[in-house]
Amino acid sequence: MSASMRGAGVLAVLVSLAGAACAQGGADRNALIPRQIADGAFMMENPTGSGNAGFVITADGVLVFDADVRNADQTLAFIRTQTDKKVRYVVISHAAGDHATGVWHYREDRPIFVATRRQMRDMYMQEKQQFEERKAQGQPERNPYARADYVTPELGFEGVMTIQLADVTFQLTDEGHGHSTSDVTMFVPQKRVIFMGDLLNTEIHPGQSESAGVIFANVNGWIASLDRVMARNLAVDTYVPGHGPVHLGRGVADLEEQRRYFVTMRDRVSRRMARGDDLDKIRKSFEPPEEFAGYRRTERLNNFLNLFFHQNVERGY
Ligand SMILES: [Zn+2]
Repeated sequence: MSASMRGAGVLAVLVSLAGAACAQGGADRNALIPRQIADGAFMMENPTGSGNAGFVITADGVLVFDADVRNADQTLAFIRTQTDKKVRYVVISHAAGDHATGVWHYREDRPIFVATRRQMRDMYMQEKQQFEERKAQGQPERNPYARADYVTPELGFEGVMTIQLADVTFQLTDEGHGHSTSDVTMFVPQKRVIFMGDLLNTEIHPGQSESAGVIFANVNGWIASLDRVMARNLAVDTYVPGHGPVHLGRGVADLEEQRRYFVTMRDRVSRRMARGDDLDKIRKSFEPPEEFAGYRRTERLNNFLNLFFHQNVERGY
């Protein structure tokens, strides 16, 4: 990636979104921050550390990657400032509230909602249950779930799928069971970017992926997914995270760091187990390796210590 591209990253696109967000949202919402990651390709960074989204503009329309019912209206408002093309597809990284519940906001454009078959099943089951539970909570005027309808995928695939929109190609891959039961990555070769969903978290502790009380993350599956993506040696400048800020042009070093996180953290938990410490004791006095000590959202670390501990007992990795 050239220096000019890096400079273009934060661009002047920070402009109008804040206004658009204020007009539509309550004071409890945080404005997504648009980051240009390539020509016509954007990530919508969630400054709270909750889920990011993204989109790519083509001559034949827009493809959106991930949609949270709590803020997808902000993404749509920003898209409208960048193009008059319609949103043609919405692809989700996985069936979780912060990535898969916001397709309703795009209804005016009637996009096709694409998911893996496994994600479709999860959308019909525990994710739907969680959505309905949240819809029933709180005051309707302050509850984004109450205003929206639950939208389920229309097009399901297994393995891989290619979507061609004008001269831009979207390579979707079901990476298997890592963060969730079915994590999809989306490589856009003409833009030299890959949207990683929650397989990649930057500067932030990863999430265990929970929906309606069910926890999905599998540490070893996650490492294997990262290994598979890295083994492709893709021509990629920027790996776009599902949570955390995007590191323009950092390339595969982001995936290496994420992989190192799991391997070293798991090792540290294992050493404590070998000393006879139980989970409670480990949680109370756990110190992450220096490289990850500054990561945000430490409540997620606590959850992950639980997973490291029990998956180590259950299967040894
Ligand atoms: Zn997420």
